Amino acid sequence: MTASNTGIDRRRVAAMAAEQTTGDLLDTWAFFRDEFEDGAQAVLASELACRGVSLDDADLAAYRERRRAEVLTVRDTFARCRYCARLAPNGLSVRFYLLLLIPIWSTTIHFCDAHEGEVSTLTARLARWVSNLLWGVRYARVRARPGQPGALLDPG
Ligand SMILES: [Zn+2]
Repeated sequence: MTASNTGIDRRRVAAMAAEQTTGDLLDTWAFFRDEFEDGAQAVLASELACRGVSLDDADLAAYRERRRAEVLTVRDTFARCRYCARLAPNGLSVRFYLLLLIPIWSTTIHFCDAHEGEVSTLTARLARWVSNLLWGVRYARVRARPGQPGALLDPG
């Protein structure tokens, strides 16, 4: 095994990068590359270069601008999928009510397109959970719309 001196296993990172779609790699590069060590960033950059993706500043800025409209935001940061941490264009806002009337708590759960199907699994699980209590729960699905700011409705 040739672990690099930066402490990452480049071969493993390269294998993982190779399995990603170009869009996912580009999201990682454009938005989250600071979360990776330099060695891993180099692997990502070379994988993108192999796929003919330009990483120059102007192209990245244009890409970020386009994605900004396609993804939900939470308090000025991009929402990420609860399951895989990809940027999330979908959300499910959940509000719990005591005695079906008194609002207790609300939250929004975010999903990428690949995990959007988990919404029904999650609502079924919540429904089973609240059925034993004197609680109600209401859902609203949220989807980022290009052309509008991705900010969520402020639950209140
Ligand atoms: Zn996901």
